[in-house]
Amino acid sequence: MVRGTVQGVGFRPFVYGLAMELGLGGFVRNQVSGVSIEIEGEIPAIESFMLLLKSRLPTLAQIDEISWTAAAVIGEKLFRIEASDVGAVGQIVIAPDAATCEDCLRELFDPADRRYRYPFLNCSNCGPRLTIVTGAPYDRGRTTMAKFAMCAACRAEYEDPANRRFHAQPTACPVCGPRLLAMDADGKAIKVGDAVRWFAEAILSGKIGAMKGLGGYHLICDAGNAGAVAELRRRKHRYEKPFAVMVSDLGAARELCEIDSAEEELLVSRRRPIVLLRKRPKMSVAEAMAPGNPMLGVMMPYTPLHHLLMKEVGGRSLVMTSGNRWDEPIVIDEAEAVEVLRGICDLFLAHDRPIHVRCDDSVTRVVGGMESPIRRSRGYAPQPISLPMECALPILAVGGQLKGTFALGSGKRAILSHHMGDLDHFKAFSAFVRDVALYEELFDFKPGLIVHDLHPDYSSTRYALGRGIECLGVQHHHAHMASCMAEHGLTGPVIGVSFDGTGYGLDGVIWGGEFLVGDFREFKRAGHFRYIAMPGGEKAVREPWRMAAAHLLDAGTKCSGFRARVDPNAVRMLETMIRRKFNSPMTSSVGRLFDAVASLIGAVDRVSYEGQAAIRLEELASMTSESGLYPVEIAKLDEVWIVDTRPIILSVACEADAGVEKELMSRKFHSTMAKIVSEMCLRIFEATKIRDVVLSGGSFMNRVMTMAVCEELGRGGFVVHRQRLVPPNDGGLCLGQLMIAASKVAK
Ligand code: ZN
Ligand code: ZN
Ligand code: FE
Repeated sequence: MVRGTVQGVGFRPFVYGLAMELGLGGFVRNQVSGVSIEIEGEIPAIESFMLLLKSRLPTLAQIDEISWTAAAVIGEKLFRIEASDVGAVGQIVIAPDAATCEDCLRELFDPADRRYRYPFLNCSNCGPRLTIVTGAPYDRGRTTMAKFAMCAACRAEYEDPANRRFHAQPTACPVCGPRLLAMDADGKAIKVGDAVRWFAEAILSGKIGAMKGLGGYHLICDAGNAGAVAELRRRKHRYEKPFAVMVSDLGAARELCEIDSAEEELLVSRRRPIVLLRKRPKMSVAEAMAPGNPMLGVMMPYTPLHHLLMKEVGGRSLVMTSGNRWDEPIVIDEAEAVEVLRGICDLFLAHDRPIHVRCDDSVTRVVGGMESPIRRSRGYAPQPISLPMECALPILAVGGQLKGTFALGSGKRAILSHHMGDLDHFKAFSAFVRDVALYEELFDFKPGLIVHDLHPDYSSTRYALGRGIECLGVQHHHAHMASCMAEHGLTGPVIGVSFDGTGYGLDGVIWGGEFLVGDFREFKRAGHFRYIAMPGGEKAVREPWRMAAAHLLDAGTKCSGFRARVDPNAVRMLETMIRRKFNSPMTSSVGRLFDAVASLIGAVDRVSYEGQAAIRLEELASMTSESGLYPVEIAKLDEVWIVDTRPIILSVACEADAGVEKELMSRKFHSTMAKIVSEMCLRIFEATKIRDVVLSGGSFMNRVMTMAVCEELGRGGFVVHRQRLVPPNDGGLCLGQLMIAASKVAK
C-alpha cells in the first residue's frame, strides 16, 4: 500500500510501466486509502521495483509511506491496472492543480498535433486537479469533467498504459472536451472566429476583459496601457491595492523586475504562484500597477489558455487580478460572473468546464533566500504537510477570520485547505462550509475534535461550535507560534515572537505584540507591547491617523506636522473618546504601532487595504541603508515584560517636526523593532535558558523587519525559525491550532 500524493498524478501508469519493464506480474489499484500494488516475480526484480518506485516517481507524485506484506505466490504473469475501489476507508491525497507541462506545451503549439491550440489539453503530469474535484475517490466521474464523454481517440490514450494520458482523468481534446465561450459586455453569448484571438485583440485595444481561469475568473487588461489600468481601477473601486501581472516568459519578467535564482525557481515551478519581485526603476508597465510599492506581483502562464493568450498578445504583460468586486470572493461560474463583473469588464472569455473549488492564485515572496508564503492556495493546496507529532484522533482546525483556511489532521500529516478569503463575506463563508465538507469527503475524514480561535465572533468559531462535535478554543498568538514550530519540527519549549494586527487575548484585550514562552501544550505570556487605545475600534484599522493620535495622547506629546494635516476637531473628539473609554478597545498590536508611526512620519493617514501602512513603511525603510535607534524601554510589571512605546513615539514626533527624512525615520523604526525583539528575548533567555525563537504573525510578512530581527537575534546567539511552508499571517493559523489540539489529546 502506497500513501501520499499518488492519485491523479500518473502514478498507476508509472507503476504499470515499471512492472512491465521488470517483467513482474500483479496489479495496481486506487483505493480510498491510497494505491495498492501487488507484484509477483523474481526477488531481484521485486527489489529493483521497490527502489525504482521511489527514485523514478512522476513529477507530481509524492510518497509519504509505503507499507507491504508478503503474499502467497499465485502464478501471476501479467500486470494490470484494476478499477478504483470505492468502498475502502482511509486516506487519499488529491494533487494540487499543476501548470501545463512541457510535453503538453509542445502539442499546444504543434500545427500537426490534434490538440493544436486546444485550450484545455492536459495529461497525467499537469492540469486541473483540486479545482475540478467533486468527490472521492479521484476518478473522472467525480470531477467536473464527468459531463464530457471521451471520444474514441481520447479513450484509446486513456486506456493505453504506455500513454502519457493513461488514466489522466481531466484529459480532453477539441472533439470531446470543454469549449471556449465568448460573451459580450452584457454576458450575452456571441459567435466569434477564434475566441482567444478575439479576446487578445480587445485587450490590446485597451479593453478590459474577464477570463475564466483554473480557480476562478480574472479581470485582464494590457499592463502597458496606463489608461486601461486606471479604468480598471476606477471600475473595480480598487485605487491603491497592487495588481498582479502575467508575463509570457522569464525574459519578460526580468524586464520588469530584478529576479534572483530562488525567485526564478518559484516563478517557473509547477505551482506557478504570484511572486512578489522588486520592480526595476524603469518599467514598461504602468506605475499604476502597484502604486507606491517597490514590489510587483508577477506570475507565469499556468494553463494552456494562458499560453495561447500570452502568445496572441505578442508577449505583452497583462494585468491579471481576481474577478470580484472589492474584496469579495473570486467568481467561478458564468451566471455569477455576468452578475458581478458586468459593468467592470467589456467582454468575457468563459468556457464550459465548471470550477468546483474556488481557488485564488497563491502569493509568495523570497525573504533572505527562503520562500515566505503570503497566500497558500492554487497549486499548493491540498499538498500535505508532515507534522512533528501524531494526531491521536482526526482533528479539524478551522483557522481565523480574515484569511479563511482550515486544516485536517490525522496521523502525522496535515492537509491545509486553499485560501477562502474574508469569512465575513457570506459567499466566502458558504464556500468555507461547503469545502470543509468536500475535503472531509475527499480525504475520508470524520473529525473527532474541532479546534478554533478564541474569538467568539469569528465565523469559523461559530461554525465550529455549531457542528455538535467536541471543540477546543486556542489563543490566536499561541496558534501562530505553534504553526511555525510545526513547520520546523520543534516540540518546544520555544520563545514565540508573535506580531500581527489583531488577535483575541486571554484577558479580552486585542493582542498583537506578544512574546510567549511555551510549547504546543501550553504557553505563558512573558511580555508584550504596552496597551494603547484604538479609538473607533475597527475604524482605527482603516485610519492610521487615529492610532497616531492615540499614541501621541498616551505619550503626552504633540506633533505639529501631524496636527497640521489632520483636522484638530477630529483629534480632540478622539481624545475625548479615549478618556471616556468610549468605543476604544485596548490593544498591544504591533500592526497598529506600524500604523501610528506611518501616520506620524507623514507617510499614510488612511489605508484602503489591510497592511498598507506597514508595506509603505517597509518600502521607505528599504530606501536607505543609514540607520540608528529610537530609545528602547522595557519594564517589568507583575512578572510580565512590557515594551514601552512612549519613548519611541516621543522621538518620532520630535524628528518628524524637525523635518528628518521619512526614509530614515522608517529605517530607524524597523531597527528599533529588531532591537526590542532581541532585548526581550535576552531577558526571557535569562529566566528560561531557551534559545529557539519562532517568528510568526502577519507583521513578519515585512521583509525589512524580519531580516533585521533575524540579524539581531543571530548576534545574540539565538536560533531563529521563520515560516516557509505556510504564511506567517492568519492563513497559517490552522496548522498551529491543529498542533495545539494534537498535543492536548496525545496519550
Ligand atoms: Zn501535460
Ligand atoms: Zn477527445
Ligand atoms: Fe494573526
